[in-house]
Amino acid sequence: MKTYRIATIPGDGIGKEVVPAGQQVLEALAARSDTFRFEFENFDWGGDYYRRHGVMMPADGLDALRDKDAILFGSAGDPHIPDHITLWGLRLKICQGFDQYANVRPTRILPGIDAPLKRCKPADLDWVIVRENSEGEYAGIGGRAHQGHPIEVATDVSIMTRAGVERVLRFAFRLAQSRPRKLLTVITKSNAQRHAMVMWDEIAVQVSREFPDVKWDKELVDAATARMVNRPASLDTIVATNLHADILSDLAAALAGSLGIAPTANLDPERRYPSMFEPIHGSAFDIMGKGLANPVGTFWSVVMMLDHLGEADAAKSVMSAIEQVTANPSLHTGDLGGTATTTQVTDAVCKSIAAHSRSTLAT
Ligand code: ATP
Repeated sequence: MKTYRIATIPGDGIGKEVVPAGQQVLEALAARSDTFRFEFENFDWGGDYYRRHGVMMPADGLDALRDKDAILFGSAGDPHIPDHITLWGLRLKICQGFDQYANVRPTRILPGIDAPLKRCKPADLDWVIVRENSEGEYAGIGGRAHQGHPIEVATDVSIMTRAGVERVLRFAFRLAQSRPRKLLTVITKSNAQRHAMVMWDEIAVQVSREFPDVKWDKELVDAATARMVNRPASLDTIVATNLHADILSDLAAALAGSLGIAPTANLDPERRYPSMFEPIHGSAFDIMGKGLANPVGTFWSVVMMLDHLGEADAAKSVMSAIEQVTANPSLHTGDLGGTATTTQVTDAVCKSIAAHSRSTLAT
């Protein structure tokens, strides 16, 4: 029996509700499996930890995670702590420390979800956005001088390396190649950013030669927002820089019906370090502690984790349990216009997994 060691980091806000729900789903799955089990270790890092220790996670935190097979993360964000501290002190520390350079964000309109694009059939919107996750606009390079004086100056320098761009574009081409439509859109802004983005475009052409069976095109990021709304079916796999993809993927999540549904994977494709899986939403303090958080984004992240671990059948069975539950409006949480609670949705998904496993065993 294979044992997967999973680190859980709920973080802040509703992360503390959706991560235990995700763990419950993994436990339901393991209860039905005679080939794998999970060993969980929980880490209480985040805003409360910061109030006690002055840091979001301990200095040797990465060492505690290093031997894990995967990390299930909730969210980092606290109304009383500046956003750049919560983000850089925890999530980015892990992403960058473990060189999780490919951030993968699938978007689909799940059964039963009332998505805002009325002319768009659910089948028209089936995208995966690959976000460069290790450099670019969020490289963290820059500084401030003359603070508080009229001549104050601040810079954030975007850094793109040939190696960094090449590896994420190659990852995106490979992902596009693995999907039925073999279609990739490379997002750029080389009309205005005439150095790094021009290099990005050049590297896209070079890498594309390794994938003659992938059809690809280039789109300016501003035009891409309109295309996502007006011609969603013309897109399949999308790759963009850190900042561009950050924005496009929030738009994608909204077009699919709710921020509460969307998952993301921070991958180290070379598997030198554990990869990290998390819902795309933040800490949502407005609904925290009320049992209202939609756990579906976390469950879908669990599906991505299972796929990454090589448990494709298990991933499929969790995904079909999720789809069964979203198809039932009485199991929709408030963000989807329903009244269901986190617990009700979680129990329904676990029940469906158990039923699915029983029927699989019976056949
Ligand atoms: P952060 O500062 O950590 O990014 P935030 O509260 O500013 O968090 P999000 O949490 O990403 O931003 O989401 C914005 C709003 O969307 C929330 O305030 C909440 O009302 C709603 N929302 C987000 N995620 C969920 C969810 N899983 N279930 C229900 N509602 C959600």
